[in-house]
Amino acid sequence: MTVWCFGSINIDHFYNLGHLPAPGETLAASGYRVELGGKGANQSVAAARAGASVRHLGAIGADGDRALAALLAEGVNCDYIQRVDGATGHAVIMLDQNGENSIIIEAGANRKMALEPILAAMEQVDLADILLLQNETAFQAEIAEAAMGRGMEVIYSAAPFEIAAVRAVLPYVNTLVMNAVEAAQLRAALDVPFEDLPVEAVVITRGAEGASWHARGTPDIFVPALPTTVVDTTGAGDCFTGALAASFSMGAAPDEAMQFAAAAAAIQVSRPGTSAAMPRRAEIERLVL
Ligand code: ADP
Repeated sequence: MTVWCFGSINIDHFYNLGHLPAPGETLAASGYRVELGGKGANQSVAAARAGASVRHLGAIGADGDRALAALLAEGVNCDYIQRVDGATGHAVIMLDQNGENSIIIEAGANRKMALEPILAAMEQVDLADILLLQNETAFQAEIAEAAMGRGMEVIYSAAPFEIAAVRAVLPYVNTLVMNAVEAAQLRAALDVPFEDLPVEAVVITRGAEGASWHARGTPDIFVPALPTTVVDTTGAGDCFTGALAASFSMGAAPDEAMQFAAAAAAIQVSRPGTSAAMPRRAEIERLVL
């Protein structure tokens, strides 16, 4: 069973600064690094390292070779990544000495991709495959609808939260994954209770307080966050969601998949970096067993 991850691919540029720049100020960075980013690519890396067969659907621009190479190096199938005119999606992340940040995101190719080649790629889906998607591209609803129409299991990470996008995608979702902030935003925006959403299951992650699974007709599942020394929580949610999809693709039941995802995320937050910090299956299993 393959995890098809439809989502953003970004090049993240990190700059270490004494302080964040004021208007008109020019600053020299004391450190600089580049990392593969974007919620889609992060979830693809998380799922691939967690043991899934992953195919990424998305787009890069003329400057995207490095991002493509990074995904390929993780064993992610990139046959259906489009190359479009203009820049690859990217983020400028400025970090001060206290860990405070300012971030600029330019969606670039993530919002310029063409729909037709993606729909054509999905002709090759096996009925049991999983579609994993988030909110940083164009065409989420169209791709989710096509996936559900082909019998795929659709896992939707409703982040970054945007109510119009969430409303458009929800009719084509089996499992909705949100962090506590996104869950509160959705609750405030909806006129129906969560129980009446047209999805089979809702997963809510709550940082150091763990995560829960709610599905109609079955008891709720709660998994506590595993004790760990926290170094960097950036990408914890993407790690959790990617590992959850990977575990389902390997045949796990919801309670096993939730434990696997919580173990993966506990390892991820104990390391610096985002996609670079995603753990491998063997490490995760050592923590679960
Ligand atoms: P997001 O990154 O989307 O804000 P969360 O902060 O809810 O997501 O974190 C996702 C998951 O990562 C949590 O449900 C938990 O399993 C794990 N996690 C996050 N913070 C910690 C922590 N301090 N200790 C252990 N696990 C954590």
